[in-house]
Amino acid sequence: MIVPPRPLEADAVIGILGGGQLGRMIALAAARLGFKCHVLCPDPRSCAFDVVHRVSEADYTDKVALDRFAEDVDVVTYEFENVPAETATFLSARVPVLPDPRVLATTQDRLAEKRFVESLGIATAPHAAVDGPDDLEAALAALGRPAVLKTRRFGYDGKGQRILREGDDPHAAWSDIGEQPAILEAFVPFEREVSVIAARGLDGTVQVYDIAENEHRDHILKVSRVPAAVPDAIAEEARAIAGKIAEAFDYVGVLGVEMFVVPGAARPVLVNEIAPRVHNSGHWTLDGASVSQFEQHVRAIAGWPLGVPVRHGRVEMHNLIGDEILDHRAWLTVPGATVHLYGKATVRPGRKMGHVTRVLPE
Ligand code: AMP
Repeated sequence: MIVPPRPLEADAVIGILGGGQLGRMIALAAARLGFKCHVLCPDPRSCAFDVVHRVSEADYTDKVALDRFAEDVDVVTYEFENVPAETATFLSARVPVLPDPRVLATTQDRLAEKRFVESLGIATAPHAAVDGPDDLEAALAALGRPAVLKTRRFGYDGKGQRILREGDDPHAAWSDIGEQPAILEAFVPFEREVSVIAARGLDGTVQVYDIAENEHRDHILKVSRVPAAVPDAIAEEARAIAGKIAEAFDYVGVLGVEMFVVPGAARPVLVNEIAPRVHNSGHWTLDGASVSQFEQHVRAIAGWPLGVPVRHGRVEMHNLIGDEILDHRAWLTVPGATVHLYGKATVRPGRKMGHVTRVLPE
Protein backbone atom coordinates (compact mmCIF):
# COMPACT_ATOMS: atom_id res chain seq x y z
CA MET A 1 0.00 0.00 0.00
CA ILE A 2 1.15 3.54 -0.72
CA VAL A 3 1.55 5.40 2.56
CA PRO A 4 -0.22 8.75 2.37
CA PRO A 5 1.64 11.93 3.22
CA ARG A 6 0.67 12.90 6.73
CA PRO A 7 -1.10 15.03 7.33
CA LEU A 8 -2.80 16.05 4.06
CA GLU A 9 -2.68 19.78 3.38
CA ALA A 10 -6.00 21.55 3.75
CA ASP A 11 -6.38 22.07 -0.02
CA ALA A 12 -5.87 18.38 -0.83
CA VAL A 13 -8.44 16.48 -2.87
CA ILE A 14 -10.25 13.51 -1.35
CA GLY A 15 -11.60 10.92 -3.77
CA ILE A 16 -14.87 9.25 -2.80
CA LEU A 17 -16.16 6.08 -4.45
CA GLY A 18 -19.95 6.20 -4.38
CA GLY A 19 -22.28 9.14 -4.77
CA GLY A 20 -25.08 8.60 -2.27
CA GLN A 21 -25.98 10.57 0.84
CA LEU A 22 -23.03 9.18 2.79
CA GLY A 23 -20.62 10.49 0.16
CA ARG A 24 -22.47 13.79 0.16
CA MET A 25 -22.16 14.18 3.92
CA ILE A 26 -18.47 13.16 3.88
CA ALA A 27 -17.90 15.84 1.23
CA LEU A 28 -19.75 18.50 3.23
CA ALA A 29 -17.61 17.70 6.30
CA ALA A 30 -14.45 17.72 4.16
CA ALA A 31 -15.34 21.14 2.73
CA ARG A 32 -15.60 22.55 6.24
CA LEU A 33 -12.00 21.52 6.85
CA GLY A 34 -10.86 23.09 3.58
CA PHE A 35 -10.58 19.92 1.50
CA LYS A 36 -12.00 19.41 -1.95
CA CYS A 37 -13.72 16.20 -2.98
CA HIS A 38 -13.98 14.28 -6.24
CA VAL A 39 -16.77 11.71 -6.37
CA LEU A 40 -16.76 8.76 -8.75
CA CYS A 41 -20.11 7.06 -9.29
CA PRO A 42 -21.87 5.54 -12.31
CA ASP A 43 -25.23 7.17 -11.54
CA PRO A 44 -25.60 10.60 -13.18
CA ARG A 45 -28.17 11.63 -10.54
CA SER A 46 -25.86 10.94 -7.58
CA CYS A 47 -26.77 13.31 -4.78
CA ALA A 48 -23.11 13.69 -3.76
CA PHE A 49 -22.35 15.22 -7.18
CA ASP A 50 -24.24 18.37 -6.17
CA VAL A 51 -21.81 19.37 -3.43
CA VAL A 52 -18.34 18.54 -4.76
CA HIS A 53 -15.50 20.07 -6.67
CA ARG A 54 -15.27 17.42 -9.38
CA VAL A 55 -17.28 14.40 -10.46
CA SER A 56 -16.54 11.33 -12.56
CA GLU A 57 -19.67 9.72 -13.87
CA ALA A 58 -18.10 6.35 -14.58
CA ASP A 59 -18.43 2.70 -13.88
CA TYR A 60 -16.32 1.25 -11.09
CA THR A 61 -14.62 -1.01 -13.62
CA ASP A 62 -13.74 1.77 -16.11
CA LYS A 63 -9.95 1.71 -15.83
CA VAL A 64 -9.43 4.86 -17.90
CA ALA A 65 -11.75 6.82 -15.61
CA LEU A 66 -10.18 5.24 -12.51
CA ASP A 67 -6.71 6.25 -13.71
CA ARG A 68 -7.82 9.84 -14.23
CA PHE A 69 -9.57 9.83 -10.85
CA ALA A 70 -6.42 8.52 -9.14
CA GLU A 71 -4.33 11.28 -10.72
CA ASP A 72 -6.66 13.97 -9.46
CA VAL A 73 -6.91 12.91 -5.81
CA ASP A 74 -4.55 12.62 -2.82
CA VAL A 75 -6.42 9.84 -1.05
CA VAL A 76 -9.39 7.61 -1.92
CA THR A 77 -12.14 6.45 0.41
CA TYR A 78 -15.54 4.85 -0.14
CA GLU A 79 -19.04 5.47 1.03
CA PHE A 80 -20.40 2.00 0.34
CA GLU A 81 -18.91 -1.38 0.99
CA ASN A 82 -19.74 -3.13 -2.24
CA VAL A 83 -17.06 -1.36 -4.25
CA PRO A 84 -15.62 -4.17 -6.40
CA ALA A 85 -12.43 -5.50 -4.82
CA GLU A 86 -10.55 -5.07 -8.13
CA THR A 87 -11.48 -1.38 -8.21
CA ALA A 88 -10.02 -0.76 -4.78
CA THR A 89 -6.93 -2.81 -5.62
CA PHE A 90 -6.44 -1.03 -8.95
CA LEU A 91 -6.65 2.35 -7.22
CA SER A 92 -4.45 1.37 -4.30
CA ALA A 93 -1.56 0.75 -6.72
CA ARG A 94 -1.81 4.44 -7.69
CA VAL A 95 -2.97 6.37 -4.65
CA PRO A 96 -3.58 5.62 -0.95
CA VAL A 97 -6.96 3.95 -0.39
CA LEU A 98 -8.33 4.14 3.15
CA PRO A 99 -9.67 2.10 4.81
CA ASP A 100 -7.36 -0.54 3.31
CA PRO A 101 -9.17 -2.58 0.62
CA ARG A 102 -8.33 -5.79 2.54
CA VAL A 103 -11.13 -4.80 4.92
CA LEU A 104 -13.64 -4.96 2.04
CA ALA A 105 -12.77 -8.58 1.29
CA THR A 106 -13.80 -9.51 4.83
CA THR A 107 -16.86 -7.32 5.22
CA GLN A 108 -18.30 -8.11 1.77
CA ASP A 109 -18.76 -11.74 2.77
CA ARG A 110 -20.93 -12.51 5.79
CA LEU A 111 -19.16 -15.80 6.43
CA ALA A 112 -15.65 -14.30 6.27
CA GLU A 113 -16.87 -11.45 8.49
CA LYS A 114 -18.29 -13.80 11.12
CA ARG A 115 -15.11 -15.89 11.15
CA PHE A 116 -13.03 -12.75 11.56
CA VAL A 117 -15.19 -11.53 14.46
CA GLU A 118 -15.06 -14.92 16.17
CA SER A 119 -11.29 -15.06 15.75
CA LEU A 120 -11.16 -11.99 18.01
CA GLY A 121 -13.10 -13.81 20.72
CA ILE A 122 -16.23 -11.75 20.02
CA ALA A 123 -19.64 -13.48 19.89
CA THR A 124 -21.84 -13.69 16.79
CA ALA A 125 -25.10 -15.52 16.12
CA PRO A 126 -24.52 -19.28 15.81
CA HIS A 127 -24.35 -19.94 12.07
CA ALA A 128 -23.45 -22.38 9.32
CA ALA A 129 -22.39 -22.03 5.69
CA VAL A 130 -25.13 -22.96 3.20
CA ASP A 131 -24.24 -23.73 -0.41
CA GLY A 132 -27.36 -25.63 -1.41
CA PRO A 133 -30.69 -26.99 -0.16
CA ASP A 134 -29.04 -30.03 1.45
CA ASP A 135 -26.71 -27.80 3.47
CA LEU A 136 -29.75 -25.78 4.46
CA GLU A 137 -31.60 -28.83 5.79
CA ALA A 138 -28.52 -29.85 7.77
CA ALA A 139 -28.01 -26.32 9.12
CA LEU A 140 -31.68 -26.11 10.18
CA ALA A 141 -31.34 -29.42 12.01
CA ALA A 142 -28.26 -28.10 13.82
CA LEU A 143 -29.41 -24.56 14.59
CA GLY A 144 -33.18 -25.05 14.98
CA ARG A 145 -35.98 -22.70 13.99
CA PRO A 146 -36.63 -19.85 13.63
CA ALA A 147 -33.44 -19.14 11.74
CA VAL A 148 -32.39 -16.51 9.23
CA LEU A 149 -31.04 -17.40 5.80
CA LYS A 150 -28.83 -14.64 4.36
CA THR A 151 -26.85 -14.39 1.16
CA ARG A 152 -23.14 -14.13 1.88
CA ARG A 153 -22.75 -11.12 -0.40
CA PHE A 154 -24.64 -7.97 -1.40
CA GLY A 155 -27.28 -8.02 1.30
CA TYR A 156 -28.50 -4.77 2.85
CA ASP A 157 -31.66 -3.44 4.51
CA GLY A 158 -33.00 -7.00 4.76
CA LYS A 159 -32.47 -7.77 1.06
CA GLY A 160 -31.23 -11.30 0.33
CA GLN A 161 -32.71 -12.57 3.61
CA ARG A 162 -35.42 -14.98 4.57
CA ILE A 163 -36.63 -16.12 8.00
CA LEU A 164 -37.42 -19.83 8.30
CA ARG A 165 -40.08 -20.62 10.87
CA GLU A 166 -41.68 -23.96 11.77
CA GLY A 167 -43.25 -25.44 8.64
CA ASP A 168 -41.43 -23.19 6.13
CA ASP A 169 -40.05 -25.04 3.14
CA PRO A 170 -36.23 -24.82 2.92
CA HIS A 171 -36.32 -25.30 -0.85
CA ALA A 172 -38.59 -22.27 -1.26
CA ALA A 173 -36.31 -20.20 1.00
CA TRP A 174 -33.26 -21.26 -1.00
CA SER A 175 -34.99 -20.21 -4.20
CA ASP A 176 -36.20 -16.93 -2.58
CA ILE A 177 -32.64 -15.80 -1.93
CA GLY A 178 -31.67 -16.57 -5.52
CA GLU A 179 -29.83 -19.85 -4.85
CA GLN A 180 -26.64 -18.05 -3.91
CA PRO A 181 -23.92 -18.94 -1.40
CA ALA A 182 -25.44 -18.12 1.97
CA ILE A 183 -25.28 -18.58 5.70
CA LEU A 184 -27.97 -19.70 8.08
CA GLU A 185 -28.03 -17.89 11.42
CA ALA A 186 -29.85 -18.97 14.54
CA PHE A 187 -32.52 -16.41 15.38
CA VAL A 188 -31.17 -14.22 18.19
CA PRO A 189 -33.86 -13.38 20.80
CA PHE A 190 -32.45 -9.90 21.24
CA GLU A 191 -33.90 -7.25 23.53
CA ARG A 192 -32.36 -4.40 21.56
CA GLU A 193 -30.35 -3.70 18.48
CA VAL A 194 -27.51 -1.28 19.05
CA SER A 195 -24.65 0.04 17.00
CA VAL A 196 -21.30 1.60 17.69
CA ILE A 197 -19.47 4.10 15.54
CA ALA A 198 -15.72 3.96 15.99
CA ALA A 199 -12.92 5.88 14.33
CA ARG A 200 -9.25 5.01 14.08
CA GLY A 201 -6.65 7.51 12.95
CA LEU A 202 -3.49 6.96 10.91
CA ASP A 203 -1.52 7.13 14.15
CA GLY A 204 -3.61 4.30 15.65
CA THR A 205 -5.67 6.51 17.98
CA VAL A 206 -9.18 5.15 18.49
CA GLN A 207 -12.25 7.20 19.36
CA VAL A 208 -15.59 5.49 19.97
CA TYR A 209 -18.95 7.29 20.12
CA ASP A 210 -21.67 6.56 22.64
CA ILE A 211 -23.78 3.64 21.51
CA ALA A 212 -27.03 4.05 19.64
CA GLU A 213 -30.16 1.99 20.01
CA ASN A 214 -31.78 1.31 16.66
CA GLU A 215 -35.36 0.76 15.65
CA HIS A 216 -36.04 -0.68 12.20
CA ARG A 217 -39.17 -0.63 10.10
CA ASP A 218 -39.47 -3.00 7.12
CA HIS A 219 -35.78 -3.85 7.68
CA ILE A 220 -34.75 -0.22 7.23
CA LEU A 221 -33.35 1.89 10.04
CA LYS A 222 -36.06 4.25 11.22
CA VAL A 223 -34.90 5.77 14.51
CA SER A 224 -31.61 5.81 16.42
CA ARG A 225 -31.57 6.94 20.05
CA VAL A 226 -28.43 7.85 21.94
CA PRO A 227 -27.48 6.81 24.52
CA ALA A 228 -28.96 3.32 24.22
CA ALA A 229 -30.99 2.24 27.25
CA VAL A 230 -28.60 -0.51 28.31
CA PRO A 231 -26.60 -1.03 31.50
CA ASP A 232 -23.19 0.66 31.56
CA ALA A 233 -21.39 -2.70 31.47
CA ILE A 234 -23.13 -3.61 28.20
CA ALA A 235 -22.43 -0.20 26.69
CA GLU A 236 -18.76 -0.50 27.63
CA GLU A 237 -18.55 -4.00 26.21
CA ALA A 238 -20.12 -2.83 22.94
CA ARG A 239 -17.68 0.08 22.68
CA ALA A 240 -14.73 -2.17 23.48
CA ILE A 241 -15.82 -4.63 20.76
CA ALA A 242 -15.90 -1.87 18.12
CA GLY A 243 -12.46 -0.65 19.20
CA LYS A 244 -11.07 -4.17 19.07
CA ILE A 245 -12.40 -4.69 15.53
CA ALA A 246 -10.87 -1.38 14.39
CA GLU A 247 -7.50 -2.38 15.88
CA ALA A 248 -7.59 -5.87 14.39
CA PHE A 249 -8.21 -4.46 10.90
CA ASP A 250 -5.46 -1.86 11.40
CA TYR A 251 -8.34 0.30 10.27
CA VAL A 252 -8.12 3.95 9.21
CA GLY A 253 -11.42 5.82 9.07
CA VAL A 254 -14.87 5.37 10.58
CA LEU A 255 -16.67 2.07 10.88
CA GLY A 256 -20.08 1.06 12.18
CA VAL A 257 -20.70 -2.17 14.06
CA GLU A 258 -24.26 -3.45 14.46
CA MET A 259 -24.91 -5.62 17.48
CA PHE A 260 -27.66 -7.53 19.24
CA VAL A 261 -28.09 -7.22 23.01
CA VAL A 262 -29.40 -10.28 24.84
CA PRO A 263 -29.49 -9.44 28.56
CA GLY A 264 -28.85 -12.36 30.87
CA ALA A 265 -27.19 -14.48 28.17
CA ALA A 266 -23.69 -15.81 28.80
CA ARG A 267 -22.54 -13.55 25.94
CA PRO A 268 -24.98 -10.60 26.04
CA VAL A 269 -23.46 -8.66 23.11
CA LEU A 270 -23.31 -10.29 19.66
CA VAL A 271 -21.93 -8.67 16.53
CA ASN A 272 -24.34 -8.81 13.61
CA GLU A 273 -22.58 -6.79 10.94
CA ILE A 274 -19.61 -4.52 10.32
CA ALA A 275 -19.96 -1.57 7.95
CA PRO A 276 -16.51 -0.34 6.81
CA ARG A 277 -17.77 3.20 6.35
CA VAL A 278 -19.77 5.95 7.99
CA HIS A 279 -23.11 4.52 9.07
CA ASN A 280 -26.73 5.64 9.09
CA SER A 281 -26.97 5.05 12.85
CA GLY A 282 -24.15 7.60 13.30
CA HIS A 283 -26.00 10.51 11.65
CA TRP A 284 -26.95 11.76 15.11
CA THR A 285 -23.33 12.90 15.50
CA LEU A 286 -23.91 15.68 12.93
CA ASP A 287 -25.79 17.79 15.44
CA GLY A 288 -25.47 15.78 18.64
CA ALA A 289 -21.70 15.64 19.06
CA SER A 290 -18.78 18.04 18.94
CA VAL A 291 -17.32 16.22 15.96
CA SER A 292 -19.46 14.25 13.50
CA GLN A 293 -18.70 10.79 12.18
CA PHE A 294 -18.18 12.37 8.75
CA GLU A 295 -15.59 14.85 9.98
CA GLN A 296 -13.95 12.11 12.03
CA HIS A 297 -13.66 9.96 8.88
CA VAL A 298 -12.14 12.82 6.91
CA ARG A 299 -9.68 13.58 9.70
CA ALA A 300 -8.64 9.93 9.92
CA ILE A 301 -7.97 9.44 6.20
CA ALA A 302 -6.21 12.82 6.04
CA GLY A 303 -3.87 11.85 8.86
CA TRP A 304 -5.26 14.63 11.04
CA PRO A 305 -5.83 14.10 14.77
CA LEU A 306 -9.23 12.64 15.62
CA GLY A 307 -11.65 14.72 17.62
CA VAL A 308 -12.67 13.65 21.11
CA PRO A 309 -16.43 13.50 20.65
CA VAL A 310 -18.52 15.13 23.34
CA ARG A 311 -22.27 14.45 23.14
CA HIS A 312 -24.53 17.50 23.44
CA GLY A 313 -27.45 15.74 25.14
CA ARG A 314 -29.86 12.92 24.46
CA VAL A 315 -30.11 12.59 20.73
CA GLU A 316 -32.60 11.05 18.34
CA MET A 317 -32.19 10.54 14.62
CA HIS A 318 -35.27 9.92 12.47
CA ASN A 319 -34.83 8.76 8.89
CA LEU A 320 -37.15 10.29 6.32
CA ILE A 321 -37.93 7.32 4.08
CA GLY A 322 -39.82 7.51 0.80
CA ASP A 323 -42.89 9.77 1.11
CA GLU A 324 -41.89 10.82 4.62
CA ILE A 325 -39.72 13.40 2.93
CA LEU A 326 -42.96 15.44 2.78
CA ASP A 327 -42.90 15.55 6.60
CA HIS A 328 -39.75 17.61 6.61
CA ARG A 329 -41.79 20.78 6.71
CA ALA A 330 -43.37 19.80 9.99
CA TRP A 331 -39.94 18.98 11.43
CA LEU A 332 -38.54 22.40 10.52
CA THR A 333 -40.19 24.01 13.55
CA VAL A 334 -39.77 21.21 16.10
CA PRO A 335 -37.63 22.40 19.05
CA GLY A 336 -34.14 20.92 18.97
CA ALA A 337 -34.61 19.44 15.50
CA THR A 338 -32.23 19.85 12.56
CA VAL A 339 -33.40 18.76 9.13
CA HIS A 340 -31.03 17.17 6.61
CA LEU A 341 -32.27 16.63 3.06
CA TYR A 342 -30.25 14.66 0.55
CA GLY A 343 -31.48 16.44 -2.58
CA LYS A 344 -32.71 13.28 -4.27
CA ALA A 345 -35.14 14.18 -7.03
CA THR A 346 -37.00 10.89 -7.21
CA VAL A 347 -38.95 9.54 -4.27
CA ARG A 348 -39.21 5.75 -4.09
CA PRO A 349 -40.68 3.58 -1.34
CA GLY A 350 -37.88 2.55 1.02
CA ARG A 351 -35.48 5.18 -0.31
CA LYS A 352 -33.61 7.23 2.27
CA MET A 353 -34.45 10.83 1.36
CA GLY A 354 -33.23 12.71 4.42
CA HIS A 355 -33.09 12.58 8.18
CA VAL A 356 -33.77 14.69 11.22
CA THR A 357 -31.63 14.89 14.32
CA ARG A 358 -33.13 16.03 17.55
CA VAL A 359 -31.01 17.06 20.52
CA LEU A 360 -32.83 16.94 23.86
CA PRO A 361 -31.78 17.68 27.43
CA GLU A 362 -30.13 14.68 29.21
P1 AMP B 1 -28.79 -7.57 8.61
O1 AMP B 1 -28.97 -7.35 7.14
O2 AMP B 1 -27.89 -8.71 8.94
O3 AMP B 1 -28.41 -6.30 9.32
O4 AMP B 1 -30.25 -7.95 9.20
C1 AMP B 1 -31.35 -7.05 9.11
C2 AMP B 1 -32.21 -7.17 10.34
O5 AMP B 1 -32.77 -8.48 10.46
C3 AMP B 1 -31.46 -6.95 11.65
O6 AMP B 1 -31.35 -5.57 11.92
C4 AMP B 1 -32.34 -7.70 12.63
O7 AMP B 1 -33.46 -6.92 13.00
C5 AMP B 1 -32.83 -8.88 11.83
N1 AMP B 1 -31.90 -10.02 12.01
C6 AMP B 1 -30.82 -10.29 11.25
N2 AMP B 1 -30.20 -11.40 11.70
C7 AMP B 1 -30.88 -11.84 12.76
C8 AMP B 1 -30.72 -12.94 13.66
N3 AMP B 1 -29.74 -13.84 13.52
N4 AMP B 1 -31.62 -13.07 14.66
C9 AMP B 1 -32.63 -12.18 14.82
N5 AMP B 1 -32.85 -11.14 13.99
C10 AMP B 1 -32.00 -10.95 12.98
